[in-house]
Amino acid sequence: MDGGTPITLAVFSAYLKCVSKAHLLITGQSAPSSYFVNNEAFITEGYRSRAVRHLQESLPGFEPIAFSDVTRDIGDHQTTSYVDCGTVTYSCLEARARRKLTTRDAASGHNYTPVLFSALDKPDPSDNLLICFGALAISQVIGTLPKVGRLIYGECHRSKNVKISDHVTRTQQIIDKISLLCANPEPPRLVLNKHCAVCDFQSRCRGIAAEHDDLSQLTAISPKELARYNEKGIFTVTQLSYGYRPRRRRRIKPDAKHDRHPARHDHKLKALAIKKAQIHVVGVPSLDIRGTPVFLVRPDGAYHQWRKVPSRELSIDLVADERPGRATGLVEAS
Ligand code: SF4
Repeated sequence: MDGGTPITLAVFSAYLKCVSKAHLLITGQSAPSSYFVNNEAFITEGYRSRAVRHLQESLPGFEPIAFSDVTRDIGDHQTTSYVDCGTVTYSCLEARARRKLTTRDAASGHNYTPVLFSALDKPDPSDNLLICFGALAISQVIGTLPKVGRLIYGECHRSKNVKISDHVTRTQQIIDKISLLCANPEPPRLVLNKHCAVCDFQSRCRGIAAEHDDLSQLTAISPKELARYNEKGIFTVTQLSYGYRPRRRRRIKPDAKHDRHPARHDHKLKALAIKKAQIHVVGVPSLDIRGTPVFLVRPDGAYHQWRKVPSRELSIDLVADERPGRATGLVEAS
């Protein structure tokens, strides 16, 4: 894909979640599975048809048109056409030729309004950008920018107006970054993120991240923390694991009800656990064991302790070494 290929809403939406995903879509790479894309399309299409039927009761004639039906010859008669944001495409070449946009006065005649359907019960901040993207695409055809867009969302098909001018600058910045991505043959650096769990490329990307021992495999690490480690020259899990230093144990009064300083999540310890393929337990695990515990002694001298709590369907498997009071193996709960 070069800088002249139009940007679709799917690419724009993917960029908001993950730069790598946008690049994969731009370069036309096929995902190992299409489970999430198919489900999302199924839910969105079902929601859209129900929402249109519902809105037609209060707004007779409400039928969103496709972006391909938007025309510059819009006439003078006063009416509003709703353009389905899911069908819009934005041309980077046209945008370079004509950067200056004016907003169209809705009272002056025919008006196009971008409309986005979201099955989610709460509007997401990214919805505003998607609607604004639709408005900018419409402006490339008719020469003026729609003033407002419409978001239809939630179970009750609620409607929210979005003021386009509030989001133009941010949307334009994102479009510029996407067109740079289109023009650059080098793929962006792969960083696993929160969206990976519902992305069809996850098996591909997780495989690459594991192969490169990438730091983003630590799911609890925030983008800011990741950037801070990168600035220090730490890019891999192994590099981070060398920074782990066990803390000195605090003395806790025997009569203290709670530890006032509970153990905090430590990325370095997690990195060490991934490197050694072990689960580390911070401090001495205290298990409230009632009833009769059963010990299974292994031939190597370690022992398993097993018990079941019927009310919570919880079983705990503790592998400990010979030194009493020090758990060095793994704790599993299922
Ligand atoms: S799996 Fe994660 S990193 Fe890979 S494209 Fe999807 S969101 Fe991006």
